[in-house]
Amino acid sequence: MTLTRRHFCGLAGCGSLVLGLGGCAVNPATGKQDLLLTSDSDERQLGMQEHPKILQQFGGVYEDPAAGGYVATIGGRLAAVSETPSLGFTFTLLNSPIVNAFAVPGGYVYISRGLMLLAEDEAELAGVLGHEIGHVVARHSAQRRSRAMLAQLGAGLLGAVVGGEASQLAGSVAGLYLQSYSRDQELEADMLGIRYLRRAGYDANGMTSFLEKMRANSQLEARIAGRSPNDVDAYDITATHPRTIARVRQAASLAGNGQGRSEVRRRNPYLDTIDGMIFGDGPEQGFVRGQRFVHPVLRFEFSVPAGFSLSNTPQQVVAIDKKREAKIVFDQAPKPFQGTMTSYIGRSWAAGARVSGLEAIEINGLSAATGVVNGRMGNTPAVLRLLAIRFDARRVFRFIFIAPVPAMRQLATELQRTTYSFRCITPAAAATVRPKRLRVVQAGASVKADDFASRMSVDKLPRERFLVLNGLSENGSLGGRARVKIIAG
Ligand SMILES: [Zn+2]
Repeated sequence: MTLTRRHFCGLAGCGSLVLGLGGCAVNPATGKQDLLLTSDSDERQLGMQEHPKILQQFGGVYEDPAAGGYVATIGGRLAAVSETPSLGFTFTLLNSPIVNAFAVPGGYVYISRGLMLLAEDEAELAGVLGHEIGHVVARHSAQRRSRAMLAQLGAGLLGAVVGGEASQLAGSVAGLYLQSYSRDQELEADMLGIRYLRRAGYDANGMTSFLEKMRANSQLEARIAGRSPNDVDAYDITATHPRTIARVRQAASLAGNGQGRSEVRRRNPYLDTIDGMIFGDGPEQGFVRGQRFVHPVLRFEFSVPAGFSLSNTPQQVVAIDKKREAKIVFDQAPKPFQGTMTSYIGRSWAAGARVSGLEAIEINGLSAATGVVNGRMGNTPAVLRLLAIRFDARRVFRFIFIAPVPAMRQLATELQRTTYSFRCITPAAAATVRPKRLRVVQAGASVKADDFASRMSVDKLPRERFLVLNGLSENGSLGGRARVKIIAG
C-alpha cells in the first residue's frame, strides 16, 4: 500500500480533448497512415502534464542516480537510432517493486526498479526500453486515445467523467497507460525494439530471455499471493504487454536478420549497477514480514492469523487463506472522513447495504467501529465483517474480513486477534524495519541453486525466488554463471 494515493480523472473527462490538429500522417517507423486526432505537440504537452501524476502513482523516482543514469544512457542510445530521435525522450526509473514498464505520449518511458532487478544484463534492459520506444515511435497510445475519443463522440458521451471509486484503476492515469495494447501493436513494438537493439549493437535475444523471466516472475508472485498462476496483477508487465516467445521470434524475423554484427549483452557492468538496490517493498510501501504487516513511515502494524498468505499491492494489503476460503483486505479510505467510525460505516462505506451489529470499539487507543454485512461467495452464504479505524485527522483505515459462514465462525477468535493487533509503533521500532536489498555474489566453482536458497532473505519460496531472479531452470544448474543475484535482509 502506498503512502498517499490520489485518484485522477480519466483524460477524456478532463477536457483535454483536442480535435482537428493531427489528421492522417505517414509514420516514419511503420510506414503506415496513422489516423490521429492529436498532433506531436499535443502529445508532448500531454506527456508533460501526466509525468508528475505518474510519478505520484508509482512511488516516485527511485533515488539512485547511478541506476537512474544508467537507464537514461541505455534508453538514449536506443532512442538515438529510432526514426524520431528528435522527439526528446525522457527515461525514468520508478520506485516501484512491481515488474513493469510503460510509455506515455511525448516520449516519456518508465521502468520500475522491480523490473531492473529481474533483468540479467544490459541487453535485457535494452530489450524492454526498445519495446517501449517502439510503442512511442509507432504512436500506439495516440491511436488508442484517438479510438477512444471517436468511440466517445459516437456515443455522445463527450465530456462525461470516467471513473468514480468503483473503477479507480480504469479511471486513473495509471489505468489509461496500463491498459493492454493489441496483439498487432505488441508485435510492432517488438519489431521496432529489435530493430533498435541491433542498430545499437545489442544481442536481440535479450528480448526473449527477459520475456521468459517476466512470465516466471508473474507466476511466482501469483503463487506467493495465493492466486492462480495465470492470474496476473493489473500493474504487472505481462498484463500490460501481453506477448509470447513465439510472437517475439516472429517479430525478430520480420525485423530482418541481424547477422554479421557484434552483439553484446554486457552482464558485468549491469550487475555492478543493480548491486545494492532495494528489493521488494520500500519504507513508503510498507513491509510484509511473515504474518505481520508493518508500515515504518505511517508507523503502524498488524498481524494476520497463521494459514493466511499476506501480500502488499499498490492499492491494498491482502491476506488469503485458501483452505478456508477466507480473505482479509486492508486499505485506506479513498477520501478523508469527518465524524465517528460508526457513521463512516453506516453512511459512507456501506451506505445502501444492511449492516448488522454496528458498534463503536476502541483498538489500542484508536476509535474504531465494526459491523457485519451478509453476502455470498458464489452460491455459498458468506459473512463480510467491516472494520474502520480512525488513524489520524485525515486517515481512516479499513479491514474487510470475508469468509463462508461456517469458516467465519471457526475463525472468529483469530480474526478478533487480528483486529486488536492493529497498533501504532514508535519511531525507534519503525527504524528497525528496513528494506531488503539485492546483492550480487560470486557463484564459485561447483555450486548449485540449492546452496543459495538458504542465503535468500525472503519469507516464502526462497529456492524458487532464486531461480526466477537469476533466470535459471528447475534443475537448479547455474549454467556457468560466475556471479549470481541473492536477496539480503
Ligand atoms: Zn508492449
